[in-house]
Amino acid sequence: MDNILDVKGLSVQFSTHAGVLTAVRDASFFVKSGEVLAIVGESGSGKSVLTQSLVRLMPDPPCQIAGGEAWFEGKDLTKLTETELEGIRGKKISVIFQDAMTALNPTMKIGKQITEVILEHMNFNGKERSSFAEELVQAFAISGHKAVDKWLMEHFRMEQDRIDQVRNKIIDMLGSRDAKVKVAEWIKKEGNITRQQAYDIAVSLLKLVKIPEAERRMSQYIFQFSGGMRQRVMIAMALACRPNLLIADEPTTALDVTIKSEVLELLISLIRELQTSIILITHDLGIVASYADRIHVMYAGSFVEKGLDKDIFYNPQHPYTKGLLAAIPRLDLNAQEKLKNIEGVPPNMLDTHKGCPFAPRCEYCMEVCLQFPPPETVLSETQSASCWLLDPRAENARKAFHI
Ligand code: SF4
Repeated sequence: MDNILDVKGLSVQFSTHAGVLTAVRDASFFVKSGEVLAIVGESGSGKSVLTQSLVRLMPDPPCQIAGGEAWFEGKDLTKLTETELEGIRGKKISVIFQDAMTALNPTMKIGKQITEVILEHMNFNGKERSSFAEELVQAFAISGHKAVDKWLMEHFRMEQDRIDQVRNKIIDMLGSRDAKVKVAEWIKKEGNITRQQAYDIAVSLLKLVKIPEAERRMSQYIFQFSGGMRQRVMIAMALACRPNLLIADEPTTALDVTIKSEVLELLISLIRELQTSIILITHDLGIVASYADRIHVMYAGSFVEKGLDKDIFYNPQHPYTKGLLAAIPRLDLNAQEKLKNIEGVPPNMLDTHKGCPFAPRCEYCMEVCLQFPPPETVLSETQSASCWLLDPRAENARKAFHI
């Protein structure tokens, strides 16, 4: 599978009255096409800042990308202008927020909100039309017919049967002398969608997320929906433009436990069907157990362990990951046994910690942990962790702590 997103050494800072706060420190990760990547960690570990800063949802100032790169479809998101980013945010990368009640507009009917998203992101102005036409002419000269299908799929989110209908017409245009002008005119006439078409798409999206009486619901406001239904509306809106990447930021935290898994199951089945990749952010390892392909554990703005779901659940290596797993309530727990927790609190992100940020809470802490940040140790093809105990130079310490 190809990587749809490649983030290298990303750091995000906030300028505050008390000083500079580094919320994300040198984070590197990738997302493969069609996979579910889960980012887990306590509240305040930097998960949301990391992902929301990719599409600049954090206000600048005070939030700023202090370094690193984030490659998406051949473009470094950190270097794009606001206008360039508008062509990606909401269209190719969508976000589902924790609480639909605050994320959606309470004064606008649901149908209008979804329709507006579709019209805003799926229609193109004159400048975009000519740039898309030029892109297609160039791609066609290099890759031939295949370039047409890819172009229709990427820019117009067309299904295969619709592509089959229009492909030959576009190829004819590309064979003419004024190909660019003709393609730009075709986009204006047929590539753009009308308000009625957008409305119909919105209704079908509500049906897709299993909202009963979708047509009637289109004219209701968000406060007229239950918690689970509100989250479904937000999923529908996020999927409106068939994004390539979906960032689901604690999508079920505001829901009660009975509908949590129902909503999550619906979300995962939809993104599998639409072949969208997803970054699932949560503080609850129990939630990701059934859905994630890979899991990254975050602490104090850095990744401390990365691995496949089976690596993290059956062979965790970092003391923090082990602590998180031990804190999950289990049905087979004796009624007298106390739930385990990780003692202490996360560090103040305003402080510049010299060594391992987990050191004050770690039962295995050594002298070296207080002096130097632990390097990332690659443990297998799929797993890595940043802990001095795993460093090949700490053989004796490993034996002593049975790691
Ligand atoms: Fe604990 Fe040291 Fe590993 Fe940090 S580097 S998690 S303090 S053993």
